[in-house]
Amino acid sequence: MPSSRLYVTDAIVLTRFDYGEADRIMTLFTPSHGKLKAIAKGVRRTKSRLGGSLEPLAELRVALARGRTFDVVTQVQVSHPWLRLRDSLESTATAWYLAELADRSLEERHEAEGLYALLRHAYELLDAGMDTGRVARWYEMNLADEMGVRPEVDRCVECDRMLEADESFRWVPPLGGVLCSRCPGPPADRAGLSVDALKLLKAYQRLDVEALAALRLPPAVEREVEAAMRDFLRVSLERDARSLEFLDEVRRAARSDL
Ligand SMILES: [Zn+2]
Repeated sequence: MPSSRLYVTDAIVLTRFDYGEADRIMTLFTPSHGKLKAIAKGVRRTKSRLGGSLEPLAELRVALARGRTFDVVTQVQVSHPWLRLRDSLESTATAWYLAELADRSLEERHEAEGLYALLRHAYELLDAGMDTGRVARWYEMNLADEMGVRPEVDRCVECDRMLEADESFRWVPPLGGVLCSRCPGPPADRAGLSVDALKLLKAYQRLDVEALAALRLPPAVEREVEAAMRDFLRVSLERDARSLEFLDEVRRAARSDL
């Protein structure tokens, strides 16, 4: 096998499923190649060398051989097991949620060093015992940045006016952030965004994680921001997928013209 077919990379397992008698197919997240599908052959046999190391929620050092459909895992070492991350169900579930968001945001075989560093840091924070909600909101806000869809929280998304603390606002994800009270926008399907929630959204854009971890906040404000970010990412990730569909349509049309 020519050596150019072999490569070594850091990786985090995003998804995995059993395949055939003893194999397992995984989605690996790597800094230089984005996400890629890899197969670990014979990994479910008790004597497999790879066996227990190819776990999710850990950083791995993986040697792979390029294959026709899937790259083949040849060696694996656990660099960071992040064992305390798995101590509670909540932080484990949060870690899976963050992995899923990464999976939905990533393109296959497309460099993603920024997003990789973000997921890795989020796992370190969960492992260090930081509040899971704070880690998740911090990650969501930075993920939006990485995707080029940073929410607007300082100016009205319609009229571009700086928002004042004494007016009322609405959170309108399809428009990209906060809408002022003077602009009509789409029909309101929820109550306005509170000033405290707006402040917290700004904090997630501006403060570092240590400062965010130290904030003392009413649970109602945290819940409001959680709902706001969830809506925002749902819209952003769907918009992304729709734009790719459109791109594919355009390409198909261009090809049929030839
Ligand atoms: Zn406005």
